[in-house]
Amino acid sequence: MQLLEERILKDGIVKPGNVLKVDSFLNHQMDIEFINELGKEFKRRFADAPITKILTIEASGIGIACLVAQYFHVPVVFAKKAQSLNLDGEMFTSKVESFTHKKVYDVILSKKFLGPEDHVLLIDDFLANGCALMGLIDIVNKSRATLEGAGIVIEKGFQEGGKKIRDMGVRLESLAIVDSMTDDSLTFRPNN
Ligand code: 5GP
Repeated sequence: MQLLEERILKDGIVKPGNVLKVDSFLNHQMDIEFINELGKEFKRRFADAPITKILTIEASGIGIACLVAQYFHVPVVFAKKAQSLNLDGEMFTSKVESFTHKKVYDVILSKKFLGPEDHVLLIDDFLANGCALMGLIDIVNKSRATLEGAGIVIEKGFQEGGKKIRDMGVRLESLAIVDSMTDDSLTFRPNN
Protein backbone atom coordinates (compact mmCIF):
# COMPACT_ATOMS: atom_id res chain seq x y z
CA MET A 1 0.00 0.00 0.00
CA GLN A 2 1.72 3.11 -1.27
CA LEU A 3 0.42 5.48 1.40
CA LEU A 4 1.84 3.23 4.12
CA GLU A 5 5.17 2.68 2.39
CA GLU A 6 5.62 6.44 2.00
CA ARG A 7 4.82 7.00 5.68
CA ILE A 8 7.28 4.31 6.79
CA LEU A 9 10.01 5.90 4.66
CA LYS A 10 9.20 9.33 6.07
CA ASP A 11 8.73 8.52 9.77
CA GLY A 12 10.03 4.97 10.41
CA ILE A 13 13.28 4.53 12.33
CA VAL A 14 15.39 1.38 12.09
CA LYS A 15 16.70 0.19 15.47
CA PRO A 16 19.32 -2.45 16.26
CA GLY A 17 17.97 -6.01 16.41
CA ASN A 18 15.80 -5.75 13.28
CA VAL A 19 13.26 -3.50 14.99
CA LEU A 20 11.43 -0.88 12.98
CA LYS A 21 10.01 1.93 15.08
CA VAL A 22 6.83 3.48 13.77
CA ASP A 23 5.66 4.80 17.10
CA SER A 24 5.07 8.35 15.86
CA PHE A 25 2.03 7.24 13.83
CA LEU A 26 1.08 3.59 14.42
CA ASN A 27 1.66 2.06 17.83
CA HIS A 28 2.42 4.67 20.43
CA GLN A 29 1.22 7.99 19.08
CA MET A 30 -1.53 7.05 16.63
CA ASP A 31 -2.49 8.99 13.50
CA ILE A 32 -6.18 8.12 13.45
CA GLU A 33 -7.03 9.47 10.01
CA PHE A 34 -4.10 7.58 8.55
CA ILE A 35 -4.95 4.31 10.35
CA ASN A 36 -8.53 4.74 9.13
CA GLU A 37 -7.17 4.46 5.60
CA LEU A 38 -5.50 1.18 6.59
CA GLY A 39 -8.89 0.03 7.88
CA LYS A 40 -10.51 0.75 4.51
CA GLU A 41 -7.73 -1.16 2.75
CA PHE A 42 -8.20 -4.24 4.96
CA LYS A 43 -11.93 -4.08 4.19
CA ARG A 44 -11.18 -3.92 0.47
CA ARG A 45 -8.87 -6.95 0.69
CA PHE A 46 -11.23 -9.04 2.81
CA ALA A 47 -14.51 -7.79 1.26
CA ASP A 48 -15.54 -11.33 0.28
CA ALA A 49 -14.96 -12.88 3.72
CA PRO A 50 -17.95 -13.28 6.07
CA ILE A 51 -16.13 -11.81 9.10
CA THR A 52 -18.06 -11.79 12.39
CA LYS A 53 -15.23 -10.87 14.74
CA ILE A 54 -11.82 -9.22 14.71
CA LEU A 55 -9.24 -10.75 17.02
CA THR A 56 -6.04 -9.05 18.07
CA ILE A 57 -3.53 -9.09 20.91
CA GLU A 58 -2.86 -6.41 23.48
CA ALA A 59 -1.59 -3.79 23.54
CA SER A 60 -0.61 -2.25 20.24
CA GLY A 61 -3.02 -4.29 18.12
CA ILE A 62 -6.10 -2.99 19.90
CA GLY A 63 -6.30 0.56 18.60
CA ILE A 64 -5.61 -0.53 15.05
CA ALA A 65 -8.18 -3.35 15.25
CA CYS A 66 -10.83 -0.90 16.48
CA LEU A 67 -10.34 1.36 13.48
CA VAL A 68 -10.42 -1.63 11.12
CA ALA A 69 -13.58 -3.02 12.76
CA GLN A 70 -15.61 0.07 11.86
CA TYR A 71 -15.50 -1.03 8.24
CA PHE A 72 -16.56 -4.61 9.00
CA HIS A 73 -19.23 -3.58 11.53
CA VAL A 74 -18.18 -6.36 13.91
CA PRO A 75 -16.80 -6.43 17.48
CA VAL A 76 -13.14 -6.49 18.36
CA VAL A 77 -11.94 -9.00 20.91
CA PHE A 78 -8.35 -8.99 22.14
CA ALA A 79 -6.22 -11.67 23.71
CA LYS A 80 -4.79 -10.50 27.01
CA LYS A 81 -1.26 -11.11 28.15
CA ALA A 82 -1.41 -12.87 31.52
CA GLN A 83 1.30 -12.83 34.17
CA SER A 84 0.02 -15.83 36.10
CA LEU A 85 -2.65 -18.15 34.87
CA ASN A 86 -5.80 -18.87 36.78
CA LEU A 87 -6.93 -21.89 34.79
CA ASP A 88 -10.58 -22.04 35.68
CA GLY A 89 -11.65 -23.51 32.34
CA GLU A 90 -13.33 -20.32 31.20
CA MET A 91 -10.41 -19.14 29.11
CA PHE A 92 -8.72 -20.22 25.89
CA THR A 93 -4.96 -19.98 26.47
CA SER A 94 -1.85 -20.08 24.34
CA LYS A 95 1.85 -19.31 24.74
CA VAL A 96 3.55 -16.54 22.80
CA GLU A 97 7.21 -15.62 22.61
CA SER A 98 7.62 -11.88 22.39
CA PHE A 99 9.85 -10.62 19.58
CA THR A 100 10.45 -7.23 21.14
CA HIS A 101 10.81 -8.35 24.78
CA LYS A 102 12.35 -11.80 24.23
CA LYS A 103 10.23 -13.60 26.76
CA VAL A 104 7.45 -16.18 26.73
CA TYR A 105 4.07 -15.22 28.09
CA ASP A 106 0.58 -16.67 28.19
CA VAL A 107 -2.28 -15.08 26.29
CA ILE A 108 -5.85 -15.65 27.35
CA LEU A 109 -9.27 -15.06 25.88
CA SER A 110 -12.60 -15.60 27.55
CA LYS A 111 -14.56 -18.48 26.03
CA LYS A 112 -17.60 -16.20 26.08
CA PHE A 113 -16.27 -14.14 23.20
CA LEU A 114 -15.26 -16.68 20.55
CA GLY A 115 -17.05 -19.84 19.41
CA PRO A 116 -17.77 -22.20 16.49
CA GLU A 117 -20.23 -19.74 14.92
CA ASP A 118 -17.55 -17.06 14.45
CA HIS A 119 -15.58 -16.16 11.32
CA VAL A 120 -12.41 -14.44 12.47
CA LEU A 121 -10.06 -11.88 10.98
CA LEU A 122 -6.80 -11.50 12.91
CA ILE A 123 -5.26 -8.02 12.97
CA ASP A 124 -1.84 -6.95 14.27
CA ASP A 125 0.64 -4.16 13.73
CA PHE A 126 3.74 -6.25 12.90
CA LEU A 127 4.62 -9.72 11.70
CA ALA A 128 8.19 -10.81 12.48
CA ASN A 129 8.75 -14.46 13.45
CA GLY A 130 5.05 -15.17 13.62
CA CYS A 131 4.76 -16.08 17.30
CA ALA A 132 2.00 -13.59 18.09
CA LEU A 133 -0.08 -14.73 15.09
CA MET A 134 0.54 -18.40 15.86
CA GLY A 135 -0.79 -17.82 19.39
CA LEU A 136 -3.92 -16.17 18.00
CA ILE A 137 -4.40 -18.95 15.42
CA ASP A 138 -4.08 -21.50 18.23
CA ILE A 139 -6.83 -19.70 20.16
CA VAL A 140 -9.09 -19.60 17.08
CA ASN A 141 -8.54 -23.34 16.58
CA LYS A 142 -9.33 -24.07 20.23
CA SER A 143 -12.57 -22.09 19.95
CA ARG A 144 -13.49 -24.01 16.75
CA ALA A 145 -14.24 -20.70 15.03
CA THR A 146 -13.41 -20.35 11.31
CA LEU A 147 -10.21 -18.45 10.56
CA GLU A 148 -10.88 -16.21 7.55
CA GLY A 149 -7.42 -14.68 7.46
CA ALA A 150 -4.90 -12.34 9.00
CA GLY A 151 -4.32 -8.66 8.26
CA ILE A 152 -0.93 -7.22 9.17
CA VAL A 153 0.09 -3.61 8.82
CA ILE A 154 3.84 -4.21 8.45
CA GLU A 155 5.36 -7.60 7.66
CA LYS A 156 9.12 -7.89 7.96
CA GLY A 157 9.60 -10.16 4.97
CA PHE A 158 13.17 -11.03 5.87
CA GLN A 159 11.95 -12.82 9.00
CA GLU A 160 10.26 -16.19 8.89
CA GLY A 161 6.72 -15.43 10.12
CA GLY A 162 5.10 -14.63 6.77
CA LYS A 163 6.33 -17.80 5.10
CA LYS A 164 5.35 -19.92 8.10
CA ILE A 165 1.80 -18.53 8.22
CA ARG A 166 1.27 -18.71 4.43
CA ASP A 167 2.62 -22.29 4.37
CA MET A 168 -0.09 -23.19 6.89
CA GLY A 169 -2.64 -22.14 4.26
CA VAL A 170 -3.73 -19.02 6.13
CA ARG A 171 -4.83 -16.11 3.96
CA LEU A 172 -2.37 -13.42 4.97
CA GLU A 173 -2.65 -9.82 3.76
CA SER A 174 0.18 -7.47 4.75
CA LEU A 175 -0.25 -3.84 3.76
CA ALA A 176 3.52 -3.32 3.55
CA ILE A 177 6.23 -5.97 3.34
CA VAL A 178 9.71 -4.76 4.24
CA ASP A 179 12.27 -6.83 2.35
CA SER A 180 15.39 -5.30 3.84
CA MET A 181 16.29 -2.53 6.21
CA THR A 182 19.45 -0.85 7.36
CA ASP A 183 20.08 2.47 9.07
CA ASP A 184 19.92 4.35 5.80
CA SER A 185 17.85 2.23 3.42
CA LEU A 186 14.60 0.33 3.47
CA THR A 187 13.13 -1.66 0.59
CA PHE A 188 9.65 -3.04 0.08
CA ARG A 189 8.39 -6.13 -1.70
CA PRO A 190 5.94 -5.26 -4.48
CA ASN A 191 2.55 -5.91 -2.93
CA ASN A 192 -0.79 -4.38 -3.80
P1 5GP B 1 6.30 -11.97 16.02
O1 5GP B 1 5.47 -12.61 17.08
O2 5GP B 1 5.72 -12.11 14.64
O3 5GP B 1 7.75 -12.38 16.08
O4 5GP B 1 6.31 -10.42 16.33
C1 5GP B 1 5.12 -9.70 16.24
C2 5GP B 1 4.91 -8.83 17.45
O5 5GP B 1 6.15 -8.25 17.90
C3 5GP B 1 4.00 -7.69 17.08
O6 5GP B 1 2.81 -7.85 17.81
C4 5GP B 1 4.74 -6.43 17.45
O7 5GP B 1 4.12 -5.85 18.57
C5 5GP B 1 6.13 -6.85 17.80
N1 5GP B 1 7.13 -6.50 16.77
C6 5GP B 1 7.83 -7.37 15.99
N2 5GP B 1 8.70 -6.73 15.21
C7 5GP B 1 8.56 -5.42 15.48
C8 5GP B 1 9.21 -4.24 14.97
O8 5GP B 1 10.11 -4.27 14.11
N3 5GP B 1 8.79 -3.06 15.48
C9 5GP B 1 7.80 -2.97 16.42
N4 5GP B 1 7.46 -1.75 16.84
N5 5GP B 1 7.19 -4.06 16.93
C10 5GP B 1 7.56 -5.27 16.47
